[in-house]
Amino acid sequence: MKIRFYDTKEKKKTFFKPINSKDIKFYVCGPTVYERAHIGNARPAVVFDVLFRFLRQVFGKTCVTYVRNFTDIDDKINKQARDTGRSITSITDETIEWYKQDMNQLNVLEPTESPRATEYIDAMIRQIKILLNKKNAYLDDAGHVLFSVRSFPDYGLLSNRKLEEMVSGSRVAVSENKSDPLDFVLWKPSEVEDPGWDSPWGRGRPGWHIECSAMIDELIGKAFDIHGGGIDLVFPHHENEIAQSCCAYPTSGFANIWMHNGFLQIEGEKMSKSLGNFLTVQDLISSGLTGEVIRMVLMSTHYRQPLDWTHQRVAECSKILSKWRGLCAGTVASERPSPTILKALADDLNTPKAFAELHALAAAENFSDLLASAQFLGLLEQDFHDVEHKKRRLDEIDRHKIEAIINKRSAAKKTKDFTKADLIRKKMEAVGILINDQSDKTQWSLSPNFDQKKLKDL
Ligand code: AMP
Ligand code: ZN
Repeated sequence: MKIRFYDTKEKKKTFFKPINSKDIKFYVCGPTVYERAHIGNARPAVVFDVLFRFLRQVFGKTCVTYVRNFTDIDDKINKQARDTGRSITSITDETIEWYKQDMNQLNVLEPTESPRATEYIDAMIRQIKILLNKKNAYLDDAGHVLFSVRSFPDYGLLSNRKLEEMVSGSRVAVSENKSDPLDFVLWKPSEVEDPGWDSPWGRGRPGWHIECSAMIDELIGKAFDIHGGGIDLVFPHHENEIAQSCCAYPTSGFANIWMHNGFLQIEGEKMSKSLGNFLTVQDLISSGLTGEVIRMVLMSTHYRQPLDWTHQRVAECSKILSKWRGLCAGTVASERPSPTILKALADDLNTPKAFAELHALAAAENFSDLLASAQFLGLLEQDFHDVEHKKRRLDEIDRHKIEAIINKRSAAKKTKDFTKADLIRKKMEAVGILINDQSDKTQWSLSPNFDQKKLKDL
């Protein structure tokens, strides 16, 4: 199968040639853990979960290593601890647990490894030492170790920026201690109240960028297949990761392909706390949305495009899922997803195309492939089983009742009394029974809000 992914560095789609097809490796920058994941944070988790599922399907389940870290050392976390009077570990432990639960609700598979940055401080110190020895880094008067950007000639290649433009750009803070305003922190001293680790440069803590470089080196090595993250990370975070790793290990190559997801916005506006449109995954679940509807919305736009989260789209996805669930009721899934779905994903993870193919399977009444393909994409999993479970729990009397009502409706249709047939369908839907007319028979299934008590009153 020919697979192409858009590479941010090459600025075009390139053929994916694994370094070793029996041992594919990719890394994605994970969340900084101090508050509940918002729906924007869920986008890269879902996008790269699709990549993980796809690579496992094509190359074999045991042949793919996916590492997504937790940034559990960061000044935002320290501030949260100061503001709330809580310990850093209680905040990070709780937030990591929340994140795992939320992603589980979205049917995001656990990556192969989910390292916490604080478990890799020794590896960070080792890499900083190498950079100092090679003169790619220096110690300033205030005890910071800084990376010397001008010591790496390829700096700016990923984000397509020239050094001179960066200097004049407003995003680079000028500091008195830096030899050059572009230089960034590898290690900084900690005050007594800050978290810190002993190092050759005194008690301190790492800068954010070195965390990923060190975890990558420890867990997947110096050359690997794909590095991913949100588009906001291209500069400076990923540019800095490349600079650190390629200077420490010049012949390594680091990531072969760089993949970045676009940003999510809400009803056409940037999501922000000040605009009052900030949505956490938990808010959405509590408001009654199922994880799979959220997941489907996140997959409904191509991952590189900006994604607009709107009420209308949520309603559309919810309707489509109910329809597919109805169609697949009682169906045994095929062993594999349809090749049409894999072909869509092989073209730079084209999930909207994959959804068009799911619609085509539904139209062709190929429900076994529809179910297998939807489940492969992380849909119709949880709810489907819950719903099936509820269905199994229905006693004979209930089943009898449902079938008797369906027969009444079929009789009304036969006599062309469509008003009556529609009325029966509406009443059944209100109870949570979904009806699916096929050419020769009518199938039924239960929606997640099926209410057994209401059925008794029907
Ligand atoms: P953070 O916890 O801020 O480091 O972000 C974790 C991940 O979520 C990163 O890959 C970010 O690029 C991504 N991210 C944050 N906000 C958004 C958003 N609004 N849309 C899409 N991705 C986002
Ligand atoms: Zn990173």
